[in-house]
Amino acid sequence: MIKYLIASFISLVVVICGLWMHTKLFYSFAVSSQMDHTTINWIIDAGHGGEDGGAVSITGVAESGINLQIAKKIDYLFGFLGEPTLMLRNEDISLHDDSAITIREKKVSDLHYRTEITNHNQNATLLSIHQNTFSQPKYSGTQVFYAPTEGSQPLAEQLQLDIQTYLQPENQRYAKLIYETVYLMNHIENRAVLLECGFISNPQEEKNLQKADYQIKFAMVVTSSCLKQ
Ligand SMILES: [Zn+2]
Repeated sequence: MIKYLIASFISLVVVICGLWMHTKLFYSFAVSSQMDHTTINWIIDAGHGGEDGGAVSITGVAESGINLQIAKKIDYLFGFLGEPTLMLRNEDISLHDDSAITIREKKVSDLHYRTEITNHNQNATLLSIHQNTFSQPKYSGTQVFYAPTEGSQPLAEQLQLDIQTYLQPENQRYAKLIYETVYLMNHIENRAVLLECGFISNPQEEKNLQKADYQIKFAMVVTSSCLKQ
C-alpha cells in the first residue's frame, strides 16, 4: 500500500513538473516568436487585462474587456486588408513575468513587456486601445492622443478627424500629446497613438461601445484612417 502511494505521488510530481515545463516553454516560445517579427506594420495594444481591468463603466463593466473586443476587430480588419499585425494580448490576461508577485509588480512587469515588444518592432505603428471615464456622465466622444515620436501627431489628427467625420459629428475634440505619466507611450521609439475610444461613464456611449456593430464601425474607421497615413 505504501509503495503504491509513493508511486502515485511520484507520478503526480512528474505530471505537475511536465505541465510547468510545458507552460514555461510555451510562454518562452510565445515571447520569442513575437520578438522575431520584423515585418509587423501595426502593433495593437488592448489596454490592461487580467487583474488590471482599468476603468470601470457606469454599469460595472471593466474597460479591459471592451478594449480587447475593439482591438480584435481592428486586428481582423487589418488582416483582411493584408496588413501584418501583432496583438500584444489576445485574452483577458496581464502580460507580467513569473517574478512579479504584487499587483503593483505585475502592472510594472506588464508595461515593461509591452514596451519591450513594441521597441523590438520599431517600424511598426502602435495603436493602444483604451476607454475613458469621468466623474460627470455628460462627457462623451473619442479622444486620440499621440506619442512624442516622429509621425505620431499627423496620424492622431487623421484618426480624430475621421472618427468625427464618419462616426461622431458632434465630437469637437482635438488630438492631444499624451500625458507624461502614460509609461508605454513615453518609452517607445515607434510612431504611436492611444485611442480613448469613448467614455464608459456616459450611459449612451457605454452601451454603444459594447455593441458589436458599433465596435465594427469604429474599427473600420480606425483601420481606413491608419492606411491614409
Ligand atoms: Zn485604460
